[in-house]
Amino acid sequence: MLGNAHPIDVLLKQLLKEDSFLIGEVLVSGAGKEILLRHYKSDDLSITRRSKNVADARFFARFDSSGAYRPLKSAPNLPADWELTLPGLYEARLAIDDFYPAALGMLLARMEGRLAPVDFMKTATRQTGMYRIVGRIEPELAQESIGATCHPQACMRVILWRLSEQTPLKRLPREKFETTGPASILNLPRIYIPTLGRQVPQVPIYCAEACNLLVAACRSAIKKEQKSTFEVTASALNNRTD
Ligand code: SF4
Repeated sequence: MLGNAHPIDVLLKQLLKEDSFLIGEVLVSGAGKEILLRHYKSDDLSITRRSKNVADARFFARFDSSGAYRPLKSAPNLPADWELTLPGLYEARLAIDDFYPAALGMLLARMEGRLAPVDFMKTATRQTGMYRIVGRIEPELAQESIGATCHPQACMRVILWRLSEQTPLKRLPREKFETTGPASILNLPRIYIPTLGRQVPQVPIYCAEACNLLVAACRSAIKKEQKSTFEVTASALNNRTD
């Protein structure tokens, strides 16, 4: 049946062998013919938006529960008032891609040893135009910006890159990194889901390269530092008595 299936649909079928798995904040369940997606914290009472249309995934992913736009899809602020009931693996794949772009593709590539992470300084020195300055960021300022922008409270992705070939990232907790070795269906971490009353596999969402938000945050940090250096110098010159 799945002989000519898309490789990600095959992966999804394997992930659903235990009936449910968690990806980011989305609990995917597929015991029956249909596949159900909802926020892992939601229950029947908290759901006010029910849909059978895969296109609605994009709308559910777009705003947080206060109605604010979510610029980073992997931020842990997905609303919990929706539920999607989909007819099959193909639709589930499309919906998951709206919630967490490229996450399943990266998981598959990681499992097959094809995912090549790019160290931060390589990404930084590749920038052009107004972001070219990011290539000159001091390592300490880069560590600080990465620590703030990529912190688990801001982004759920698991980081595979380093600052540079010689330098690991220093300002992020252990949970931001892959601790059990490259993922396979057999060694996925497990997480307890209170609404199910049991553990399910947790699919990592990988970050293989610094995103635009991080590059922009680094630029702002450099600009801020330049401004304060300029102000200190200007004030020292103004105070000169000779
Ligand atoms: S660089 Fe990766 S881990 Fe950091 S905020 Fe962007 S997507 Fe998340």
